[in-house]
Amino acid sequence: MSVWNVVIIGSGPAGLTAAIYAARGNLKPLCIEGGEQATKKSDPPGGQLMLTTDVENYPGFPEGIMGPELMERFRKQAERFGTEFLTDDVTKVDLSKAPYKIWAGHGDKEQTLEAHAIVIATGASARYLGLESEKKLLGYGVSTCATCDGAFFKDLEVGIVGGGDSAMEEATFLSKYASKVTVIHRREGLRASKIMQQRVIDNPKIDFAWNKTVKMVNDVEKNEVTSVTLLDTKTEEESEMALSGLFVAIGHTPNTEPFKGQLDLDDAGYIIEKNGKTSVDGVFVAGDVHDTRYRQAITAAGAGCRAALEAEHYLAAKGIG
Ligand code: NAP
Repeated sequence: MSVWNVVIIGSGPAGLTAAIYAARGNLKPLCIEGGEQATKKSDPPGGQLMLTTDVENYPGFPEGIMGPELMERFRKQAERFGTEFLTDDVTKVDLSKAPYKIWAGHGDKEQTLEAHAIVIATGASARYLGLESEKKLLGYGVSTCATCDGAFFKDLEVGIVGGGDSAMEEATFLSKYASKVTVIHRREGLRASKIMQQRVIDNPKIDFAWNKTVKMVNDVEKNEVTSVTLLDTKTEEESEMALSGLFVAIGHTPNTEPFKGQLDLDDAGYIIEKNGKTSVDGVFVAGDVHDTRYRQAITAAGAGCRAALEAEHYLAAKGIG
């Protein structure tokens, strides 16, 4: 079996930027971009940006660009310099000794690969409420990223689901654009830190809907958000709240399943990194799979560049590549 110099796992902004740099560094990388989507719960190849519409904060696109188009451009650029792609999911890795082993695909399609270095850029997936209407209106009024989509709701009323720091931070951010923000929370107490709570409580544009869960996002027929149907968790009464946008901020899950027990992860399952390096020599990391703080396409891309450069130095020191 031939051994790849570097295998990049993940094809969001972090993975594809790592691929561009590794390819331009003549490392002939393989990017395992994730599998086809039909039955999967995780993000499609290209990552979370494939689920957004306009991206207005990625530098270089003053008019904005659609998320999927941006990722297509990243991919073409990585391909242009010789990145090879495998459209499958990584199911398992063995990082106990170099060259490292990677298993991708299922059943008949399963294959085992070997790599001298790995860049993990598998991202994190936003958690969803799990409603059919939420899924259908994602990108059409439902969003999991206020920083990305808040500006589209100028002078409109929006809701945000969640009671943690993310929900508080995003509610505060949204209040700069929206005429009114309602935090919809399933119980009466917030999980968020006191300082973040206070900032929201003191904000005259933000209201709370306590003890409420979202039962349905309306209106799938119109392909836009017009209201949400709420369920009171105490009385079980239903009510309708008119809204133009619904933000879901109930946490993220890092895509680290195949790496558990092999790399140091924090309590929430994110990979612990230092300057793009993980706890295993020759295994690098970039993007949301380690970043709980910024979670932006541009910061992920920057981290992808860093991880690829670190991989290049690592391989050069070993005389590989
Ligand atoms: P989190 O702390 O896990 O909070 C998730 C919130 O969503 C909770 O209030 C939870 O309700 C609610 N929730 C979960 N599942 C739900 C469901 N199915 N339906 C309705 N509500 C649901 O997540 P997070 O806010 O993303 O924060 C993650 C971590 O990042 C935390 O450690 C946080 O401190 C940190 N963070 C820090 C900052 C900052 O310091 N600037 C900003 C953002 C995040 P319950 O409370 O009832 O469980």
